[in-house]
Amino acid sequence: METTVLKKIWLSPPHMGGNEETYVKEAFDTNWIAPLGPNVHHFEKSIEDFIGKATYSACLSSGTAAIHLGLELLGVGPEDEVICQSFTFAASANPITYLGATPIFVDSEKETWNISPELLEEAINDRLSKGVRPKAIVAVHLYGMPYKVDEVHAIAKKYGIPVVEDSAEALGSSYRGFNCGSFGDFGILSFNGNKIITTSGGGALLSSSQECKEKAIFLATQARDNAPHYQHSKIGYNYRMSNILAGIGRGQMEVLKDRVEARRHNFDFYNEHLSELPEIEFLHEPEGSYSNRWLTCILTPSFDIREKLRLALEVENIESRPLWKPMHLQLVFEKSTSFVNGVSEDLFDRGLCLPSGSSLELEDLERICGIIKNELK
Ligand SMILES: *Cc1c(COP(=O)(O)O)cnc(C)c1O
Repeated sequence: METTVLKKIWLSPPHMGGNEETYVKEAFDTNWIAPLGPNVHHFEKSIEDFIGKATYSACLSSGTAAIHLGLELLGVGPEDEVICQSFTFAASANPITYLGATPIFVDSEKETWNISPELLEEAINDRLSKGVRPKAIVAVHLYGMPYKVDEVHAIAKKYGIPVVEDSAEALGSSYRGFNCGSFGDFGILSFNGNKIITTSGGGALLSSSQECKEKAIFLATQARDNAPHYQHSKIGYNYRMSNILAGIGRGQMEVLKDRVEARRHNFDFYNEHLSELPEIEFLHEPEGSYSNRWLTCILTPSFDIREKLRLALEVENIESRPLWKPMHLQLVFEKSTSFVNGVSEDLFDRGLCLPSGSSLELEDLERICGIIKNELK
């Protein structure tokens, strides 16, 4: 007897373009297996060309490593406080603790779901009134939607606090014509397996000077001083990207534009086919914002309906996922100071990420929409 297995639809699977294998093979053929090599250089160059605005890029082993080095280069250390968007993936906040510093969480606004400028200023003033000057701000373009760049950076500037711009989910997004990743004192990218392009694992630290890039590479390669023997005057890390993985990244950069288009098309399809359901809300682009639509997210009327949809999709072998659980609700950050307004808790309650891969086919999208419509009938 034959049983038909429903085709699995993943939330955001890797999607190779074609030339990745060529560049990886080149590394094998020339024996550039040992960590660094020409692929790393080419990959960095292609990122720099793409982001523009005189950006320098250092390729690393992960986006998390990039946040860690960015914060370290801003001088974050024990006793310091760092303000961090609460509505995000844990990797935005964890590196603050690697440096012995304390995260202060700030909730989101409703228009972009990212850090609320009002609450950010309230948080800064509260900390200043207690005699602490926050050492940095980690702001996130969540799901590819740019945060309120003008407002957030105006506040950062007013108080003289540097910004680490977490663009892990926002490669290909832009704000008023400038690419995400280019706004912060440091920007970070991730090439993890589920991101818009991937090296299977990897990240990059973006900055606006060659000097910052060199400092990042120095720290990422065990902080070896310039001497024939191994000499160290600082603690370093083993965070550099390998030449093999950079080969994958080179190939992926060639198709980045197509990947953004495909993800934006997914959003348009869902929006067009599900907006007729009064229960479903979408996150729209505010004027001036361009999202790569890394993941298409919907808001349902309640937790129960969200779960009903998620489970109905799961039964049909389709992966969907609740929105990120805010950091101020995480057990590990239970004792942290946070400035909340209910926005991220509500999003977490009612929101669902739909399958959003750039390789989704029309019949996949139709199947997903059919299930959702059927459940809400
Ligand atoms: C993926 C991600 C990171 C971390 O990137 P890794 O490459 O997985 O370490 C950081 N911040 C956000 C918002 C992310 O989604």
